[in-house]
Amino acid sequence: MGAHIIEGKKISEQIRGELLQEVVNLKAKNVVPGLAVVLVGEDPASKVYVGSKEKTCIELGIYSEVHRLPAETSEQELLALIDRLNNQSTINGILVQLPLPKHINEKAVIDAISVEKDVDGFHPQSVGNLTIGDDSLLPCTPAGVIELIKRSGVDIAGKHAVVIGRSNIVGKPVAMLLLRENATVTICHSRTAGMEEIAKQADILVVAIGRTKAIDSRYVKPGAVVIDVGINRLPDGKLAGDVDYESCLETAGYLTPVPGGVGPMTITMLMSNTITAAKRANGIEV
Ligand code: NAP
Repeated sequence: MGAHIIEGKKISEQIRGELLQEVVNLKAKNVVPGLAVVLVGEDPASKVYVGSKEKTCIELGIYSEVHRLPAETSEQELLALIDRLNNQSTINGILVQLPLPKHINEKAVIDAISVEKDVDGFHPQSVGNLTIGDDSLLPCTPAGVIELIKRSGVDIAGKHAVVIGRSNIVGKPVAMLLLRENATVTICHSRTAGMEEIAKQADILVVAIGRTKAIDSRYVKPGAVVIDVGINRLPDGKLAGDVDYESCLETAGYLTPVPGGVGPMTITMLMSNTITAAKRANGIEV
């Protein structure tokens, strides 16, 4: 029997339907969630991402502001804008599209975003809250990974989850979220010895390394849930994951495709975070 394919696009559409209804309910209470996206410079991929975020806000009835700033914007000017947005009551979420031009200190900018409006979940205080189990806005891609697993009917509690990759934006927060869901978690990285053996013990295997098709069926226990976070551009322009999809089709129990797996979940979780932030700002139960 082949793997059950986890259709991220479908699950994402289902969640967006739920979010649309939440926005309607909030509007009935005179609350309109608002998201500000800040783009500095002309990076083509960033422009596409920002465009999709704006479009999704409009589809869900979320108020959206996009601040498109020239590449030569100074750090001080950007920090002044963040300060204004932190104090603007129509804005519940602030997202600064990364990467920023080299002359701007990314950390200083992320740290300046008010934690209540940190819809990317990258602020050190958000990371700390997640770690100690306090309320926080969760980083979008990792939160999307957890939703995909849960909505596929997989119970995370008690399972052995292996995360390959330990970046601050994917690997580490995915591991923390799996721990919070009561999985037993192992984290692998580029210095891990015997990774194949470790990965093979996983009931849930999450891969986020940025290496095209690096993980094949030799790393997968029969029946395991395999979540591929990787997005790699092939020479022919097509996208491929970090997991060798074809090789794992027979071995895995559940498998995400690329594209159409984790990818569509990221913006959906950003919208969900904006709605959560709006509720908290207005004292409405989350
Ligand atoms: P990253 O910052 O480059 O981190 C890669 C991690 O993988 C590092 O921890 C590295 O280990 C580890 N690694 C690299 N090669 C390895 C190997 N051969 N064996 C074991 N571990 C290895 O990447 P990232 O930002 O986490 O992104 C990972 C992938 O996810 C990329 O393809 C990216 O495009 C994709 N991504 C997708 C989304 C989305 O779906 N929306 C969002 C974000 C990222 P060390 O720490 O030891 O160097």
